[in-house]
Amino acid sequence: MTVGVVGGGQLGWMLGRAGDPLGLRCRFLDPAPDAPAGRAGELVVGAYDDPGALDRFAAGLAVATYEFENVPLAAARRLAERVPVHPPPGALAAAQDRVAEKTFFESLGIPVAPWRAVDRLDDLRAALAELGCPAVLKTRRLGYDGKGQAILRAPGDAADAWARLGGVPLVLEGFVRFRRELSVLAVRGRDGATASYPLVENVHADGILRWSRAPAPDAAARQAEAEGYARRALAALDYVGVLAIELFDTDGPLLANEMAPRVHNSGHWTIEGAETSQFENHLRAVAGLPLGSTAPRGVSLMLNLIGAVPDPAAVLAVPGAHLHLYGKAPRPGRKLGHVTLRADAPEGLDALERELERLLRSPSPGG
Ligand code: AMP
Repeated sequence: MTVGVVGGGQLGWMLGRAGDPLGLRCRFLDPAPDAPAGRAGELVVGAYDDPGALDRFAAGLAVATYEFENVPLAAARRLAERVPVHPPPGALAAAQDRVAEKTFFESLGIPVAPWRAVDRLDDLRAALAELGCPAVLKTRRLGYDGKGQAILRAPGDAADAWARLGGVPLVLEGFVRFRRELSVLAVRGRDGATASYPLVENVHADGILRWSRAPAPDAAARQAEAEGYARRALAALDYVGVLAIELFDTDGPLLANEMAPRVHNSGHWTIEGAETSQFENHLRAVAGLPLGSTAPRGVSLMLNLIGAVPDPAAVLAVPGAHLHLYGKAPRPGRKLGHVTLRADAPEGLDALERELERLLRSPSPGG
């Protein structure tokens, strides 16, 4: 059975590798001839909005899915006329526009930060007066890894922030004084069966995920709440596949920040740290196979390798360390790989974490 994956980045690469033992072949569509996923399956090189490339990609597929959420809707719909597409294109529509996403969460009773849509400088001033400072201004579409965002600390910041981001539809959010950031990853099969991984704690810097710890410490009391959000979203979208929801852990309820209708960086730990990885479970779901257990195997810490890669031999000398290099050229701010540390108990992880952090502070030149 061949599964088509729109996008050929590292997520596609990890999907391809997870499919292999299940007898599932992945075929990728990506405009870059050197896309990382090309090492894990057939790569169709073409633009996402090129009908000819889409049709070549779709020919003979049993099912199609995607590994990034900014797949053009027209492309997803064209594919859906030819092959079953999971998750449904409706999930893309909800995730591609922050206003649609927040409206979707609110319609399900899932709390979000206070927000206002902003189309003009006057809207921004009015929204800022209502929500107060600080506040976070974001582009409604195509923002990722902290790009397309500005923090407004005083009403006088409005004009500058507008000059930087204005001209496209925006959304202003109240600044959330969260205790920490969490994410929930859940999967739904074609038969409607669902399963959730344990909550993950995530630390971002400059808007980019730096590390994830799973299961999130002291989060058992929040698990049911987060799973409830995920289950409502999955059912409302008639979703098939893995869905990630990023959450702010506050003194009140968990607030949903955004969702990703795909496998997610905060689930990379599941490759070694769960009975069934998010990649395998996504493929099981879209291929109509039974879901695998989402139970953790001990505790895991996943560190992203951003901009530079440490000496592989030094990383692999750390007990419990697993290295994943995506084969991408080093560039500042670029995700080049990740390391997962797995241990049977949290105490085991702490010493390893210090050792690994020391290594990551001294990346090898040229990666
Ligand atoms: P996002 O692109 O929405 O995932 O935002 C990137 C990161 O910015 C988040 O992971 C948070 O660390 C931070 N952030 C986003 N929105 C807010 C908010 N409303 N209040 C405080 N921090 C935020």
